[in-house]
Amino acid sequence: MKAELVYVGIGSNIGDSITIATDAINRMRDIQDCTLVQQSSLYRSEPVSDIPQDDYINAVALIETTLEPMPMLRELQAIEQAFNRQRDPALHWAPRTLDLDIILFGQRVMNDPYLNVPHHEMANRLFVLTPMLEISGEQLIPGLGSLQYLINKAPSIQLNKIDVIPNNPTR
Ligand code: ADP
Ligand code: MG
Repeated sequence: MKAELVYVGIGSNIGDSITIATDAINRMRDIQDCTLVQQSSLYRSEPVSDIPQDDYINAVALIETTLEPMPMLRELQAIEQAFNRQRDPALHWAPRTLDLDIILFGQRVMNDPYLNVPHHEMANRLFVLTPMLEISGEQLIPGLGSLQYLINKAPSIQLNKIDVIPNNPTR
């Protein structure tokens, strides 16, 4: 079976989001038939929402997998559930402990409502595009153009790379 490269967007703004995002990336290492190839820095972003809520911690992970897209999404949703993600279908852009979105799945273009790739909102989300550029460099996004082009025209937001302080200092 052919392995494909999958970009996963990570977002959290409830709880200890730095730890949640870090732990979520580590859990991705353990998904069957997946290899974690790269992970971006963590970023702090202002919420894009009318609902008052805390800043988000965001990151992007690059995974190589032989899984098909739907099984991959189910694995990611299981990780979300492990962090007690509460879903309220009436609320878009609601605060969440952990959101894992498939941003790209190889060069595939899928418009299924349960799974669209490239992710329909990626072009509007600097908190996805910037960490992607950090790990992948410039690349062509199927149907959308170059990553740098998308970054240049995305709505600007406050987005800052975080320097994570190690948990276990050596002294
Ligand atoms: P959002 O990420 O839009 O804030 P949710 O995480 O609650 O909201 O996802 C809602 C639904 O979006 C999920 O049930 C999932 O089936 C669907 N979905 C469609 N495309 C994708 C994708 N590329 N990655 C993750 N979920 C997706
Ligand atoms: Mg989601």
